[in-house]
Amino acid sequence: MSRLWYVDCPECDQGRLFVQRKSGSSDLFLECEECYVAWNHPAHVGRESEGYLSIDIPSEDATKEDIVAAGWMMYSFHVSQD
Ligand SMILES: [Zn+2]
Repeated sequence: MSRLWYVDCPECDQGRLFVQRKSGSSDLFLECEECYVAWNHPAHVGRESEGYLSIDIPSEDATKEDIVAAGWMMYSFHVSQD
């Protein structure tokens, strides 16, 4: 299963920010695999006031189709085979 990620987490510098889709929704967010800090938009990543803890939010791995639907294609994402 390939997963999409955006950049290394600016909060902890250890994890990557994976693109997640909230369960039952088309809303995407970017979630750190290590510290679970999240942002709702790639343009907000690193803004302390926009970051939140995502650990209790049910979500699925976002697909390329989800990213197109969210209008995020101008951002570049990495593919992980984890
Ligand atoms: Zn982190």
